[in-house]
Amino acid sequence: MNGHCRVCNAEISPFMSFGRMPIANGFLRPEEAEGEYFFELAPAFCAGCGMFQLMEQPRPEKMFHEQYAFFSSTSRYMQRHFESFAQSVINGVLAQRDDPFVVELGSNDGIMLRHFHEQSIRHLGVEPSANVAEVARKQGISTISAFFDRKLADDITAKHGGADAILAANVMCHIPDLPGVAAGVQRLLKPDGVFVFEDPYLGDMITKTSYDQIYDEHVFIFSATSVRHAFAPFGLELVDVMPQVTHGGSMRYVLAPNGSRPISKKVHEQLGKETALGLDRPETYLRFKANCEKSRSTLMQTLESLRTRGKRVVGYGATSKSTTVINYCGITPAHVEFISDTTPIKQGRLSPGAHIPVRPYDEFVARYPDYAVLFAWNHAAEIREKENAFVAAGGRWIVYVPEVAIVS
Ligand SMILES: [Zn+2]
Repeated sequence: MNGHCRVCNAEISPFMSFGRMPIANGFLRPEEAEGEYFFELAPAFCAGCGMFQLMEQPRPEKMFHEQYAFFSSTSRYMQRHFESFAQSVINGVLAQRDDPFVVELGSNDGIMLRHFHEQSIRHLGVEPSANVAEVARKQGISTISAFFDRKLADDITAKHGGADAILAANVMCHIPDLPGVAAGVQRLLKPDGVFVFEDPYLGDMITKTSYDQIYDEHVFIFSATSVRHAFAPFGLELVDVMPQVTHGGSMRYVLAPNGSRPISKKVHEQLGKETALGLDRPETYLRFKANCEKSRSTLMQTLESLRTRGKRVVGYGATSKSTTVINYCGITPAHVEFISDTTPIKQGRLSPGAHIPVRPYDEFVARYPDYAVLFAWNHAAEIREKENAFVAAGGRWIVYVPEVAIVS
């Protein structure tokens, strides 16, 4: 399965395969279990530009089901995160500017733009998912339903003028045509404007062996090195980086037209760290592959042993990320009785691929299992605090990031 880098067009080939994989967020009604769609989940590293990417991605119509539309604002934790993201832009780049204009790519239900709206700052959200965009518009947040590209960038510039800031959170890593978006950003941004985006960070994924970041929707996992290369052809340079704890380890990148801003020393430090970590070398990814295999065999030994001893094990959190872990490791309903989740739309459905039932959270609480696999590990601190009673009743957590372990 050879192909070309989505960014620099160099020839690349996958360094591993996670096997046949279903759509990560494709939770099924029982009657849909037959004829499920699968594709090969195989990541590649481009030695030319340093970009970590998927070789194959399912067609968009397979991936985005309207009924699974994800509303960002359902998480209070993410609400606080985006409030602080917005404030840092308002108090930073926008301070002292006369009538600034902010554009957000993939603005979802307005979780971030509402803070600009509240301060009467001119803004525009670009959100392809129509029903999600409608939720934002109902709150008075200017939003258009469209995909961002060169043409749309020109239309927005003609109507509103250039942007002082373009923002994106957990969006850029989903867009296969990264050069197309970069070209749009170049056209829409004012000469003294900034493009600020954040996504799951490759350095965290490699050091934590958190391979569950790899699923159909994440076509790229970025590093400072690869971001720098990807935007250079569009006259944009990386001027700042800010590590974030969200999504199990993310990075916020600040880009600006060449020479328009000083480059923070944090950028040089981060690039140095990435070289030290070997993110620019193919052998790092072979080691990552070996670490994934080791994680898989340890997790399965643990689950097999609990099954043989007749212990009750359930999953906690029917996340997209868990789809890669469950299917790559070969976890079945014989290992995990059900997955508890608070999202009503997922309850009564089956997990993609392995068809583990998803049940309401109440069933977890009504009869605590002996063990719970913490699929939503990126919210571990919040969850373990909330579930004190589970541990007090003798329950134990099974975690697999950064290593497989049983913890209380
Ligand atoms: Zn490349």
